[in-house]
Amino acid sequence: MTQTFDIAVFHGDGIGPEIMAPTLDILGRMAEASDGYGLRFHDAPAGAAHYAATGDSLPETSMQIARNADAILLSAMGLPDIRYEDGTEISPQIDLRKALTLFAGVRPVRVRQGQPTPLNLPKGKEIDFVLIRESTEGLFYTQGCGDVRPDEARETLRITRDISEKLFRFAFDMAQTRRAAGRGQGRVTCVDKANVFRAFAFFREIFDAEAARHPDLTADHAYVDAMALWMVQKPWDFDVLVTENMFGDILSDLGAGLMGGLGLAPSADIGLDHAVFQPCHGSAPDIAGQGLANPLAMILSAAMMLDWLGIKHDNPALAQDGRRLREAVEDVIARGAALTRDIGGTAGTAAAAQAVTDALFVA
Ligand code: ATP
Ligand code: MG
Repeated sequence: MTQTFDIAVFHGDGIGPEIMAPTLDILGRMAEASDGYGLRFHDAPAGAAHYAATGDSLPETSMQIARNADAILLSAMGLPDIRYEDGTEISPQIDLRKALTLFAGVRPVRVRQGQPTPLNLPKGKEIDFVLIRESTEGLFYTQGCGDVRPDEARETLRITRDISEKLFRFAFDMAQTRRAAGRGQGRVTCVDKANVFRAFAFFREIFDAEAARHPDLTADHAYVDAMALWMVQKPWDFDVLVTENMFGDILSDLGAGLMGGLGLAPSADIGLDHAVFQPCHGSAPDIAGQGLANPLAMILSAAMMLDWLGIKHDNPALAQDGRRLREAVEDVIARGAALTRDIGGTAGTAAAAQAVTDALFVA
C-alpha cells in the first residue's frame, strides 16, 4: 500500500503565499505521478497578517495541525509594520522551533559548475556542504529578553549537554547519509570558539565524545573566525559543519551569499519527531504582491522535505523525487533562463516555477 504523508502548510506573510502556491503545485504533481507515496496538504493559518486579523499569531488549531503532521512546510512569516503590543516581532516560526524542539537548523550550501556564484570555482570543484546550526539555545537563549540596565546590558550563552548530544548525533548521521549517497567525504567539522570561551570548550568536548562513536567518519574542529575565512577561500573542502546558534546564524548568511543570494537558500529545522522546511529568506514585504518573488529557495526546501521523509520512512520513491526536484531547480539555475530579478534575470515567480515544472515533466 502507498504511504500517504500529511503535510502542514504555513502560507505565511508577504511573498509567502506567492512562493508556497507553485511549490504545492509541483509537489502535488510529483506525488500524483509517483506510485511510491502520496501527500495530503493541511493549511495552518498563522503569521503577522493573521495576528492583525484575529489577535493570534499562531492559533492552537494550527499548532495541532503542525504537531500531527509528518512534516511542516513554511514559507515566511512576519511583517515590519505588524508587531506585538510590546513591540517585538511576530515570528511564529521561532515559536514552532521552541514548541517542537527543532534543535538542528540545516542549511545546505550547493553550487555546481556553471551556476552563478561570487567566487571563481576552480575547475572540477563544486561547493556542496551542509551547515547545521543549533537552533534552540546558544546566544539566542535570552532572545528578546536580555538584561538591559542604564549602564550595562547582558545576554546569556547557554549550551546544554542534552541538546548538544542530540545535535552532534544528528550531524554524524548526516555525514553518514551523505557519504552513502555519494556526496561528501564523511567528515564533520565542529565550529566553535573553544580557545576563548569555556562554554565552547564544553561544546567541543561533547562533540569529541560523539566523534569517538564514529571511527569510520572524520571529525575535526575549526574556530568560527577561521571558518568565515575558509568558507570564502575553500568552501569546496567542507562536508558537514556543526555549530552554535549565533555562529550558525551568521555563517548561514555567508553560505547563502556563496549560492548567489537568499532567493536560492533553502533550510530545514529538524528535531527528533518533527521538522519544518522553509527558505532562509523573510517575507520580503518590499516586493510582495507583485509576482516578482523567487520561488526557488522554497522549492529547494520542499526537496529537502522529500529527502527527509524518504530517509525517515525508508521510502526510496520519496528520496528519488527529492533528488529529482533539486536537480530540476539546479538545471533551471544553470541554464540561466527564467531567473528572477534577485538573481540577475527578468522572470517573475510564475515563469520561474513553470521552468522547474517543465524541467521535471517535459523532458
Ligand atoms: P527576516 O528578518 O524575516 O529574515 P529580512 O529583513 O532579513 O527578513 P527578507 O524578507 O529576507 O528580509 O528580504 C531581504 C531582501 O531580500 C529584500 O530586499 C527582499 O526583497 C529580498 N528577498 C528575500 N527573499 C526573496 C525572494 N524569494 N525573491 C526575491 N527577493 C527576495
Ligand atoms: Mg533576515
